[in-house]
Amino acid sequence: MSLLVLGDQLDLGSPVLADGPWADDCVWMAEVAEESTKVWSHKARIALFLSAMRHFAERLRERGWQVDYQALERHAHPDLGAALRAAIERHQPQSVRMVEAGEYGVARIVEHACAEMRVPLRILDDSHFLTTHADFDRWQSGRKQWVMEHFYREMRRKSGYLTASGEPVGGEWNLDKQNRRAFPKSGPGILPGRCGFPPDTLTRQVLELVERRFADHPGDLDAFAWPVTREQALEALADFIDLRLPGFGDYQDAMWVGESWLYHSQLAAALNLKLLDPREVLDAAVAAFDAGRAPLNAVEGFVRQILGWREYVRHLYWASMPGLLDENALDAHQPLPGFYWTGETEMVCLREALGQTLRTGYAHHIQRLMVTGLCGLLLGVEPRQMHAWYLAVYVDAVEWVEAPNTLGMSQFADGGRLGTKPYVASGRYIQRMSNYCGTCHFEGAGDVDARFRRF
Ligand SMILES: Cc1cc2nc3c(=O)[nH]c(=O)nc-3n(C[C@H](O)[C@H](O)[C@H](O)COP(=O)(O)OP(=O)(O)OC[C@H]3O[C@@H](n4cnc5c(N)ncnc54)[C@H](O)[C@@H]3O)c2cc1C
Repeated sequence: MSLLVLGDQLDLGSPVLADGPWADDCVWMAEVAEESTKVWSHKARIALFLSAMRHFAERLRERGWQVDYQALERHAHPDLGAALRAAIERHQPQSVRMVEAGEYGVARIVEHACAEMRVPLRILDDSHFLTTHADFDRWQSGRKQWVMEHFYREMRRKSGYLTASGEPVGGEWNLDKQNRRAFPKSGPGILPGRCGFPPDTLTRQVLELVERRFADHPGDLDAFAWPVTREQALEALADFIDLRLPGFGDYQDAMWVGESWLYHSQLAAALNLKLLDPREVLDAAVAAFDAGRAPLNAVEGFVRQILGWREYVRHLYWASMPGLLDENALDAHQPLPGFYWTGETEMVCLREALGQTLRTGYAHHIQRLMVTGLCGLLLGVEPRQMHAWYLAVYVDAVEWVEAPNTLGMSQFADGGRLGTKPYVASGRYIQRMSNYCGTCHFEGAGDVDARFRRF
């Protein structure tokens, strides 16, 4: 074994696999229980990782790679470091090669294991992202403040997405003002629905394993329909571009009782597992605009999330680690309320966001930021507990993107590195963007802010 592929590096075009397979190289992949238990992971999150990894290992074998795949049921190593040391002992490789890990702690574990076993470790840049760490260093050097909007504009100019001669197509860089439409009182009407994939045999085996082995973990598996292969991820992308991208901008912040998916892409998990490359996602969205199939406000809004926010938070994560996870600028120390794990609360906005999270492993950005995040911030919950919850319950949760969003954008624990101000919003935005407040138990408790206070 000399090639190491982590559970969120499921890219057949990865630099570590380039020009292979080679007869004397074997790919090592491992499922380790610690990854599911270090935070109390949602069953759907565990199942998605395991199923996608197993499908990926199958693809590698079909392409002629030798794969040493350590399935959870068949090995007893408690953590990644122990599993890797045992693999090095077994294979006696000359060196180990891998694409840089996405998570700080994982990178350290691999480095230590290789150093302990005296095997050279070669780390390759992650070509999945549009920017390298060096690009970000150049961008930030000499700047007093890191503002996402500035980073995003530079990314637009450099990449050429929605740009003509260095200027934004349509005349404005950011069309967010247009992206705050609420649904009419009659509701959202007929929605495109979810692009789901019925579990195949391999996924069904994983679902049974997760139900058995992680029986006491939160969340349901009944609605499991996430893309677990590259083919399915590409289908999900095409489905989004055709059916939901046109409404993505207008209704990006809207919420409605009983509606989990609305016009969102639901592609974050496929992107974070590397089943999709952000370039092909951006290309598809911009092509839809060029062909007149999606309006500029929708496509610009979507491009900003991927080309701007997604790249930006990754750099912020690496620039802030290892200290980020312990930051607590507002000195908040309350425990996370138990209803975050059950969804049992009479406040409708929270019940909806938490209920769908536990059913599916998904909530959209405004639910994460303005409902569950805002509630934690107002209650003074300790940021580290909020972080552990967000990392546990979403199928797309990986630390490099979850932690800066939770600790920076949502909880202001970083003291303002990511956002210019805390998102201590009033409940009025929730009232304006949803039908949650009209049927709320706290309806009679004065205005929306008074309801939040009473809660
Ligand atoms: C507290 C909190 C925790 C979050 N945790 C995660 C996480 O663990 N993993 C994760 O991928 N995203 C996270 N986000 C960002 C965002 O909420 C999700 O990416 C999005 O809701 C996923 O749903 P979607 O794929 O339908 O996204 P869409 O609404 O369709 O957006 C398109 C894509 O843009 C990217 N994106 C959008 N917003 C952000 C953002 N703020 N940061 C980085 N990328 C973004 C995602 O790749 C997403 O798939 C978090 C946000 C908050 C406020």
